[in-house]
Amino acid sequence: MTAAGGLLAVIAGPSGVGKGTVHARARASLPESVLSVSVTTRAPRPGEVDGVDYHFVSPERFQQLIDEDQLLEWAEYAGERYGTPRGPVEEAVAAGRIVVLDIELQGALQIKEHDPAALLVFLVPPSFEELERRLRARGTEPEAALQRRLARAREELEAAHQFDVEVVNDDLDRCVEEVLGAIERARAAAEPANDRAGDQRRTRA
Ligand code: 5GP
Repeated sequence: MTAAGGLLAVIAGPSGVGKGTVHARARASLPESVLSVSVTTRAPRPGEVDGVDYHFVSPERFQQLIDEDQLLEWAEYAGERYGTPRGPVEEAVAAGRIVVLDIELQGALQIKEHDPAALLVFLVPPSFEELERRLRARGTEPEAALQRRLARAREELEAAHQFDVEVVNDDLDRCVEEVLGAIERARAAAEPANDRAGDQRRTRA
């Protein structure tokens, strides 16, 4: 059950598309939003902080979280596992917050199945060549991992039409504005359903 205004918003897109920056900018404009901290089996990158960027866990612990149904969704990506902790997300949405998820394609589709009112935004690079250039410039991955990410990016770009909204990240300001507009519209669309849910609760009481 969702309180008025509660929304689950996925802002996804291939590795290197600039998701981190768009997330930070969108969230700065949405003070009532919360960013879900995912669980992952991958090793921290230099500068990443456990509990802030991710909860870094062993493969055994990740499997335990799956077995205990503590993940809202999870997926494998470039040889590692990533998942969204269920409890904090469900609590925040029920309290009327906007919960923003930075997750990949398979997870995004699982979220939509779980919550059809969820908004799925897909960030598209200006071109595949530009994506490769940005990923190389970032320099965070060895060549083999980079190749896995590029292969996955191609798959993701082909599936982008399954999202509610596609936004090209060529101009950051415009891109962020479009993302914020989509979130506003999704919130407005969810309002009548939320009101009806409230009415039902009141009627039953
Ligand atoms: P990175 O290793 O670059 O931090 O993340 C790799 C990919 O995993 C990114 O596309 C990121 O959005 C995705 N990801 C991060 N957390 C989650 C999660 O909880 N679930 C899913 N399905 N994907 C995630």
